Amino acid sequence: MKKIYTGIRGTCDFTPSKSHSFNKITQTARQIFKVFGYEEVILPLLEEEDLFKRGVGETTEIVERQMFKIQGKSIVLRPEGTAQVVRYYLENSLYKQSDFHKFSYIGAMFRGERPQKGRLRQFHHIGAEAIGSDSFYLDGEIIALSMKILEGIGIQEKQLLINSLGCLEDKEKFSQKIKKILNSKKDKLCPDCQRRLERNPLRVLDCKRQECRGVVTSLNLGKESLCSNCKSRFENLLFTLDNLKIKYTQTPYLVRGLDYYTNVVFEIISGSLGSQDALGAGGRYNNLVRDLGGPDIPGIGFSLGIERILLALKTSQEEKKIKVFIITASETLLGAGFKILQRLREQNLACDMDYCGKSLKGQLRYACKRGAKYVVILGEEEWKEQCVMLKDMEKSVQEKVKIEDLAALLKKYMIL
Ligand SMILES: [Zn+2]
Ligand SMILES: [Zn+2]
Repeated sequence: MKKIYTGIRGTCDFTPSKSHSFNKITQTARQIFKVFGYEEVILPLLEEEDLFKRGVGETTEIVERQMFKIQGKSIVLRPEGTAQVVRYYLENSLYKQSDFHKFSYIGAMFRGERPQKGRLRQFHHIGAEAIGSDSFYLDGEIIALSMKILEGIGIQEKQLLINSLGCLEDKEKFSQKIKKILNSKKDKLCPDCQRRLERNPLRVLDCKRQECRGVVTSLNLGKESLCSNCKSRFENLLFTLDNLKIKYTQTPYLVRGLDYYTNVVFEIISGSLGSQDALGAGGRYNNLVRDLGGPDIPGIGFSLGIERILLALKTSQEEKKIKVFIITASETLLGAGFKILQRLREQNLACDMDYCGKSLKGQLRYACKRGAKYVVILGEEEWKEQCVMLKDMEKSVQEKVKIEDLAALLKKYMIL
């Protein structure tokens, strides 16, 4: 027996019905991006490793243990889109052309970690980045955009968690505060977090381990670490969201696992996903452009996970794939049937026929299985008269139709 190959763990094949859902999701997203004025970029799957080390942060979970590195090279499969879009923006000096840019992207992302439920090695993101403005109205737009896409896709049950990390100084202050509080509970944290506490205390708040979640959620974190400027900025954003009729839950321990975030961070969760419950997330990154060697330009963005969305949708929106099926009564009529098939396809009618030599009954059964609404039966008698029998499968009625009238008639029925 020859070996049967299986797909790589943590990757998945999209079946036709899953692909159909995938395309519907991305079509919806593209339509909404257009309405909001975001232009799509298609960027490579490969990037320099250092881009993410510097952009996302050396001690973040992504960079520390999730990068998918090409062996022997300092190249990785991209783990996320934001640092990459900023790389593209800086490489082309886009800030010289205009002081404000809005991009969207849809594509595969990669993580090299051990795969688990809801966490894949290859997954897909829908994302947007707006670079060049620090306006809280833009924060409102980005959040509204991400919610609108999920709504358009049909995700009813979702919750928006929101927090502000403040400016760099506030973030540092918050980080020191966390360090001080957590130091007294150090023995309750996982070994990774005990180490993180020294180098990057905020990352402890991201830890997904049960013991650390318990410690973190019991902390009484307020907004005292925000300076007056960041505080009023955040209040203005919340007011903007109120006006947009977007409901949110303020979540003081929400920090997101990437070092580049400042000010607003948000996460959209769905109860139906369990512990891996985030449908998407985003936030402001006012220092990232500068950290990656560019001028001091603020930005904000988000990404949504398509696989997570598919999990949350549960009900796969299956489409009736084929509208018309051609059935031939004998092998000698195959050529004539094939010709009719091409004629209907030229008129953009979704149709098919059997290529496996099935009996008349077998062909009918197969047509049902394919979800055909109409069946065109070609028999010896009909062929002599240049006619076919056209059967409506739902109404279970049939009529004799001239071959030359068939396409026009089917089109008429499809509209009715
Ligand atoms: Zn501040
Ligand atoms: Zn931990």
